[in-house]
Amino acid sequence: MTETISTKKKTEVLNPKTEHFEFSGVSGALAISIGLPILIIILNQMIRPNYYITGFFENFSFEEVFQKGDLKSIQDYLFNMKETWVYYILWFFCLAILDVSLPGKTINGVELRDGSYLKYKINGIALSSYLIILLAYRFKTTNGQMPELQYLYKHNLDICVVSILFSFFLAVIVYAMSFIPLFGKKNGAGNKERILALGGNSGNVIYDWFIGRELNPRLGPLDIKLFCELRPGMLLWLLINIAALHKVWLETGKINNALLLINLLQGFYIFDGVLNEEGCLTMMDITTDGFGFMLAFGDLSLVPFTYSLQARYLSCNIIELTNWQLVLITAVMFGGYFIFHSSNQQKSDFRQGKLPHLKSIQTKRTTKLLCDGWWAKSQHMNYMGDWLISLSWCLTTWSSTALTYYYSLYFFTLLLHRQQRDEHKCREKYGEAWEEYEKAVPYKIIPYIY
Ligand code: NDP
Repeated sequence: MTETISTKKKTEVLNPKTEHFEFSGVSGALAISIGLPILIIILNQMIRPNYYITGFFENFSFEEVFQKGDLKSIQDYLFNMKETWVYYILWFFCLAILDVSLPGKTINGVELRDGSYLKYKINGIALSSYLIILLAYRFKTTNGQMPELQYLYKHNLDICVVSILFSFFLAVIVYAMSFIPLFGKKNGAGNKERILALGGNSGNVIYDWFIGRELNPRLGPLDIKLFCELRPGMLLWLLINIAALHKVWLETGKINNALLLINLLQGFYIFDGVLNEEGCLTMMDITTDGFGFMLAFGDLSLVPFTYSLQARYLSCNIIELTNWQLVLITAVMFGGYFIFHSSNQQKSDFRQGKLPHLKSIQTKRTTKLLCDGWWAKSQHMNYMGDWLISLSWCLTTWSSTALTYYYSLYFFTLLLHRQQRDEHKCREKYGEAWEEYEKAVPYKIIPYIY
């Protein structure tokens, strides 16, 4: 079987031209590349210590959002903000150095189109432990003042804009790199061609730059895509949350329970991701998507500067939740986490042959489609669980603002788009078996609703 696959691989074109365009093609790519950065800047402008949106945008002020606050001109961000650039670049590259140098186990990613496998170092636990020790050390040596966290809190919007510009330049660099033949080594097909993403080789500069041309751009031992997905953005998100907590503690000597709760819930989610880092290697972002502006911006800007909006809001508007609210929010979070985790685990165990008694549909390939347990309730119960987690985070601000609920709305749209892409892929891949599966499991994400 393996032999047949490799012969087929050698005769197939390694990098076929992309014919199917996502996001309505070039115009959609341009609209997202301009619109989403503006959106996250506006969202951050709407949550500042001296101005934050309450209720259903009742106190929205055009002047506060677009003229006041910390927003500077693009020239300032490009040429006059050396300090912020230096800090951001130091953050990015110090993490990159730690990522390649800290110990960890090395495992294979999924099989690539040329029959080869990339190796990945899994050392998230070592890296997070290092960061926690460093934070504890700085807390002790600065008598709790932690100037780094104060800087991060105060210059939140500046760092956000710098991260957007950094994502832009990073996407330009990886796009340009994708045209350079591999240095030294050959690919699995015996030549020096880089493996491009099936969706990122259209030949249109803007579209390919946005969606990502090369599948797995690497700089020496650093896998840029996995690194960006797991380190600089996720850890910055954690730090922004801690900085919000720290700011309130410095100012009042106390911590409000809603702010503490969001820190604990999101901290748990981030560290759970670190513990299950290997699982990322089979995710669509790593196996299928190229690395371009979409992922760079998503990982480096959107995650840290919008997933932290609840914590930032709760550091500006101090809210104390009642005990039953705390219990309800925690229940939604861990109910969602249970569904998310056990459904992903069930699929993984099934694929490894550990659950042969569960009902499934044989496809024309060697794989089977599970239609039992969680995977009988909807086609993506894992998305449903993940969405409930996102809702629990928004609930920490309760009914004081509609703004922080943006996250749940955005996340549902992301999951919906992801489900549609996955459905397209599976229909092409499995044909009749997928149709049979759709009849057996008609709901896509939310049982009995969608
Ligand atoms: P899934 O884990 O649902 O994987 C989909 C793939 O699984 C399909 O392409 C197919 O792959 C296989 N598959 C689909 N249905 C079945 C079935 N019934 N039986 C067996 N195999 C099946 O999706 P993702 O990779 O998109 O997401 C993984 C997790 O990451 C999810 O829990 C999601 O919520 C989370 N996520 C989190 C994000 C965040 O920002 N927090 C963003 C995106 C995702 P194959 O080709 O192998 O058959």
